[in-house]
Amino acid sequence: MYLKSLEVHGFKSFANKLLFEFHNGITAIVGPNGSGKSNVADAVRWVLGEQSAKQLRGAKMEDIIFAGTELRKPLGYAYVAITISNEDHKLNVPYEEVTIARRVYRSGESEYLLNGASCRLRDIQELLFDTGIGKEGYSIIGQGQIDKILSGKPEERRELFDEAAGIVKFKKRKAAAEKN
Ligand code: ATP
Ligand code: MG
Repeated sequence: MYLKSLEVHGFKSFANKLLFEFHNGITAIVGPNGSGKSNVADAVRWVLGEQSAKQLRGAKMEDIIFAGTELRKPLGYAYVAITISNEDHKLNVPYEEVTIARRVYRSGESEYLLNGASCRLRDIQELLFDTGIGKEGYSIIGQGQIDKILSGKPEERRELFDEAAGIVKFKKRKAAAEKN
């Protein structure tokens, strides 16, 4: 399982539709200050369900939509899609590839898509439990996050181990069953 591609359109500084293709191995993104390197990581975080504008380095969610430049008008929506290779079927769906997409309009209206079909954020979260990929997973380690993990409460640290051990889905199901 690995990140195959990332498509951005109207997300932060990416006004044009842009496709990043990754391969199995290491990819480094380099560029001058302010060229949009961190925006690439923000896009991955956002499509996985990030709800906090602050986590995405903005004041409000609308700030993730391309705001325009001197030469270019602002856009009305932001769209991000990531495609994960699922050849090893680590994700519990009968597809070789899984594309997760999210779109938001300035009106606030938003949607998530799983292989093109509209779905709930919850469906995406459930698919990604125990894979380390979710927005709470350890596949995205942001600046300062290592310190936060090391100095965090034991219960918080435990969550990382639960995810790596693959027992989050059982804990979530237990919690849901106890509620009913
Ligand atoms: P550094 O090397 O300093 O970390 P970086 O390559 O990580 O820089 P980013 O922080 O990803 O750069 O990109 C910042 C740029 O994105 C800024 O120029 C900012 O104006 C632009 N930007 C952020 N949000 C938007 C938006 N909604 N619309 C247009 N441009 C945006
Ligand atoms: Mg940066």
